[in-house]
Amino acid sequence: MNSSFDVIIIGAGPAGLILAYSLGKNRLKALLIEQKPMELIGEKTCGDALGFDRTEELKDLIQIEEPNPEVICAILETAHLSSENKFEISIPFQCRTINRLKYGQQLLKNIQQFSTVSILTETKVVEPIITNDKLEGVVIRNKEGKKSKFYAKIIVDCSGYTAIIRKQLPSNLFPKINQVGREETIVSCREIIQTKEEHSFQKQMRIELHPELPPPGYFWIFSKGKKKLNIGVGWLINEQNKKIKPSVILEKIRKKIFPECTVIKHDTDLLPGRLPLYSMVGDNFIVCGDAAALANPINGEGHGPALISGYYAASTIISALEREDFSERSLWKYNVEIWKKFGYLGSMGIAIHKFLKKYPISDFEYLFTNGIITQEDVNNILYDLGYKPSIFNKFIKAMKRPKLMLRLVRMILIARKIEKLCLSYPTEEKDFNKWKRKMVKLELREL
Ligand SMILES: Cc1cc2nc3c(=O)[nH]c(=O)nc-3n(C[C@H](O)[C@H](O)[C@H](O)COP(=O)(O)OP(=O)(O)OC[C@H]3O[C@@H](n4cnc5c(N)ncnc54)[C@H](O)[C@@H]3O)c2cc1C
Repeated sequence: MNSSFDVIIIGAGPAGLILAYSLGKNRLKALLIEQKPMELIGEKTCGDALGFDRTEELKDLIQIEEPNPEVICAILETAHLSSENKFEISIPFQCRTINRLKYGQQLLKNIQQFSTVSILTETKVVEPIITNDKLEGVVIRNKEGKKSKFYAKIIVDCSGYTAIIRKQLPSNLFPKINQVGREETIVSCREIIQTKEEHSFQKQMRIELHPELPPPGYFWIFSKGKKKLNIGVGWLINEQNKKIKPSVILEKIRKKIFPECTVIKHDTDLLPGRLPLYSMVGDNFIVCGDAAALANPINGEGHGPALISGYYAASTIISALEREDFSERSLWKYNVEIWKKFGYLGSMGIAIHKFLKKYPISDFEYLFTNGIITQEDVNNILYDLGYKPSIFNKFIKAMKRPKLMLRLVRMILIARKIEKLCLSYPTEEKDFNKWKRKMVKLELREL
C-alpha cells in the first residue's frame, strides 16, 4: 500500500465512517485505520438510541441512506424522565434503537464502493509523527506487532473517547486544543437483557432517577423489541462517586425491576461529559465525535453528533484541499459549525450539572413534584431560546425553598448565556482567547 494520502482517519466509528464516505464521494485519497476486524466495525457499548433528525439530516447533506429496516430494533414513540413514583415528565424526542454493528456494516458497505478510500483493519494507531514541528502522519502497529508509518496532508482523530492522537499532541504546537478531564467524563454501564414475557416498556425510552444511584446518576430503559431491552446507568465522575462501580449499581436496579430477565451483554465504557473542545483543529489536524467531546453532557447522546461531525470535517477538508492550505486557519470553519450546533445543544446540560452538584436528587424531584417545573417549562426550555418562565407564580409555589428557586433561575440564565456564546464562536482564530476566557468563566460560575 502507498504510504501517503490526502487524509488519514483514525477510527471507523460513526464519525470516521461518515468522514470516509464523504471524502470517497469526492474522490479524495483517504486511509481509514481501525483496530477492530472488518466484520466488527460498528460494534460499540451503547444505549443504541439514535434520533431520526440526525440520519435525516445526513441524508439531506450527503444522500446517504438512513438505517436499513434490519438495522432498526424498535421505534421509540415516547420518551420520559421520571423518578420512582414521584414525577414523570415527557421529553419531546423521537428516536429508535438500532443494532450498532449492523449500522456500522451498512455504512462500511457504502464506503467500499470508493476506490480512493483504503481501509486498514486490525491495525492500531499508536502515535503521531511530528517532524520539524509539523504533524505529518501516524505510526501504526498491525496484529503481528509490526510497526509502520503513514503520511497525509490532514490527520483526523475519530478514535472515540481514547482520542489516541489528540492526547499525544504537544501542547506548544497545538495550544488551543484542550484535553478532557476525569471530572468531565461519564462512566456508564449497559446491559442488553431478554425478558421471559413481553415487557411493559414497548416502544418506550425512559430515563429514571433511583435512590441506588450516586448523584448525579441516571438509569435508562430503552426498548429493543418485544422481549428485549437496553438498560444502563451512568454518571459524571466526581470525588464522591469515583470508586463506585456502575456494574454493581446496575445489577441492583435490574434485580428490582427485571428480577427474571437474562443478561445477554454487559459492558462498561467511558464517554465525554462536557461541552465540545474549545478548539478542534490545528495545523494538519481535526478531531471528531467523542474524541472532540461532542456527546451531549446530560444524556450521553453522541452517536448522532459523531455522524454529523464526520460530515462537517469532510466539507472543511474538501475546501482546504482545494486551497492547498491545511493550516489551523484554513480548518477553523469546522470549530464554528460544531460549536453552533453541539455546543449550543449541550449548554443546558452543563447548567443542570451545576445544579445537581449543589443539590441532592430529592431537591430536583421537589421541583417537579411541587409543580415548580412543569411539562410546559420542559418543552419551552428545550426549544425556545427566549423562554422566560413566569417567575412570580413559581416563587409562590416555592415559598418554602426560596434559595432553591433562586438557583434554578440562575441555572436557566447561565444556560442561556452559554447558548449565546456558542452561537458567537469566533470566526477567526485571533479572537479565540477572548472567547475562551468568557466561556471558561461561565463554565466555572457557581449557582
Ligand atoms: C454506555 C454508553 C451508552 C451510550 N448510549 C448512547 C445512546 O443511546 N445514544 C447515543 O447517541 N450515544 C450513546 N453513547 C455515545 C456513543 O456511543 C458515542 O458518542 C459514539 O459512538 C461516538 O462515535 P465516535 O465515532 O466518535 O467514536 P466510537 O464509536 O468510539 O468509535 C471509535 C473507533 O475508533 C477505533 N479506535 C480507537 N482507538 C484506535 C486506535 N488507536 N487505532 C485504531 N482504531 C482505534 C475504535 O475501535 C472505534 O471503532 C453511549 C456511550 C456509552 C459508553
